[in-house]
Amino acid sequence: MQEQFHNEGVEITAIYHCPHHPDFTGECECRKPRPKMLLDAAQTYEIDMAHSLLIGDSERDIKAAIAAGIGTTVLLSSQEVLSTQASRVVQELSCLY
Ligand SMILES: [Zn+2]
Repeated sequence: MQEQFHNEGVEITAIYHCPHHPDFTGECECRKPRPKMLLDAAQTYEIDMAHSLLIGDSERDIKAAIAAGIGTTVLLSSQEVLSTQASRVVQELSCLY
């Protein structure tokens, strides 16, 4: 994935993931919609969350972003979205241009 982004001129600074699953490891602080991974990144890289944009493909992503104070949220969904807290809903990323 990083190579694909690199080939398009985008450098990824860091990748975060939650290695847990509530059915196997119990609840954790890093699994979305909890905002811990976003807050960790904000602290490590001094990210201005209010002026940041999060693109996610689930409402859990959007809820985590809002809890982390991210200013703009975009829900990427190929299906009709009846209810979301996202700032915008797009069917594909090219809609953001
Ligand atoms: Zn976790």
